[in-house]
Amino acid sequence: MLELPDDHRAILDTVRRFCRERLEPRVRAFENGDEPLEPFFRELSESLGLREVADALVDGTASPFEGVSPLVLTGFVMHELSRCCPGVALSFGATTGLFGGAVMACGTPDQKRTWGRRALSLDAVGAWALTEPGAGSDAFGAMRTRARGVDGGFVLRGTKTFITNAPTCDVALVQARVEGASDGKIAGFIIPTEARGFTRGRPFDKLGMQASPTGEIFLEDVFVPNEMVLGGLGADGLPHDARFAIRASLGAERMGMIPMLLAMVERCLEEATTYAKGRVQFGAPIASFQLVQEKLARIHTTKMLLEVLFLRQIEAIACGRLGAISRAEASAQKLFAAKAAVDAAMDAIQILGGAGYMRGSVVEMMARDAKLFQIGGGTDDMQILTIARELLRQQ
Ligand SMILES: Cc1cc2nc3c(=O)[nH]c(=O)nc-3n(C[C@H](O)[C@H](O)[C@H](O)COP(=O)(O)OP(=O)(O)OC[C@H]3O[C@@H](n4cnc5c(N)ncnc54)[C@H](O)[C@@H]3O)c2cc1C
Repeated sequence: MLELPDDHRAILDTVRRFCRERLEPRVRAFENGDEPLEPFFRELSESLGLREVADALVDGTASPFEGVSPLVLTGFVMHELSRCCPGVALSFGATTGLFGGAVMACGTPDQKRTWGRRALSLDAVGAWALTEPGAGSDAFGAMRTRARGVDGGFVLRGTKTFITNAPTCDVALVQARVEGASDGKIAGFIIPTEARGFTRGRPFDKLGMQASPTGEIFLEDVFVPNEMVLGGLGADGLPHDARFAIRASLGAERMGMIPMLLAMVERCLEEATTYAKGRVQFGAPIASFQLVQEKLARIHTTKMLLEVLFLRQIEAIACGRLGAISRAEASAQKLFAAKAAVDAAMDAIQILGGAGYMRGSVVEMMARDAKLFQIGGGTDDMQILTIARELLRQQ
C-alpha cells in the first residue's frame, strides 16, 4: 500500500471504490469490444467531478480537490484504472493526458476553453496522432503527412497509424509537416472527426490493451482553419514549431506510465500471492516452496521500486518541480518500469501455472498489456538512445 498523506489517500480510495464497483464487472466486456468505453468515461467523470476539475484548470479557479494537484489526481485515476484494466487507462490517458495535456500546454485560450475542457472532463474522446506507416521511431525525420497553407487555414494530407482512440475519438491532434516552412517545421492541428476528408480504419486486432481501440487515421485534403492550429499562428503568419511540445508530450506520457505499471505489478503480486497460498501440490500450498517464494519476492521488489518512482513524481508535483525531471530520466523510468512489469507479469503467470495462462485470468491480461510499454511512447531502444545521448552530452 502506497504511503500517502490522508487527503491523497482519501482520493485514491474513492477512485478505487469506483473502479471496483463500476469497472471490474465490465472488464471482459471492454476487452471483447462488447461494450463501448464512452458511457463508462461519462460515469467516471461524473463520479469524480472531472468537469469541475477541468473548469478549474481552464478558468484558473480553485480545484475541487483542495491540496491535491489535478496531475496527482490523474496519476491516481491511471493507477486505479490499470489495476482493473490497463486498456481503459490507456484510452483515458490518450484523451486527458496526450490530447488534453497538449492542448492545455500549448493551445490558445479558445482551444483550451473548448477542446481542453472537453477532453479533461471526458466529454469528448481525444487522440494524439504522431506515428505513421513509415514513421515510427523516426517520427520527425520520416513524417510524410503534409499541411499546405491556403486562404484561412491549412489543408492536410497523409496517414497516421497505431493511434490510440482513433476508431472512436471525437477529435484528434494531428502532427504534420508544414509545407514551405524552413527546417522541416512540424505543427499540431486540432481536427474534429466530422471534418470533411477525415476517415479512420477499423480497430486493429492486437496482442494486448484490447479494451483500448487502436487504429489508423486517413487525411484526404482535410481543411483545418487557422484557429485550430495548436497554439495559433506566430507573428510570421506560420504555425509554431511543435517539435519541442511533441517531445514534452512524449516525456509526460512516459511519466504517466509509471502509475499504470505500478498498479499492474501490484495486481500481479496480489493474484500470485493469493493463488500460491491456496494452491496445494505435493500436499502443501505452493507458497511453501522456495522457488515460488523467490518469484513472489522478485515481484514484491519490483513493486517497491515502482512505488519509489511514483512517489518521486508526486513529490515533484507537490514541490512544483515536475519540470526538473529531465527527458533522460523520464526515459530511464519508463525503460526500467516497462521491463520490470513484463518480468513481474511473467513470474505471476508462472506461479499460477495453467490457470495463469488461460484467457480471462488477470495475470494473463497484465502480461499482454505490459508488453505495450516496451513499444508505445517510444520503444525501449529509443529510451536507451535518449538516456545515452543526454548522459554523453553532460560529460
Ligand atoms: C497499442 C499501441 C498504441 C499506440 N498509440 C499511439 C498513439 O496514440 N499515438 C501515436 O502517435 N503513436 C501510437 N503508437 C505508436 C508507437 O508510438 C510506435 O509503435 C512506436 O513509436 C514504434 O514505432 P514502430 O512501431 O513504427 O516501430 P519501428 O520504429 O519500425 O521500430 C521497429 C524496431 O526497430 C527498432 N529501432 C528503430 N530504430 C532504431 C535505432 N535507431 N536503433 C535501434 N533500434 C531501432 C525499434 O526499437 C523496434 O524494436 C501506439 C502503438 C501501439 C502498439
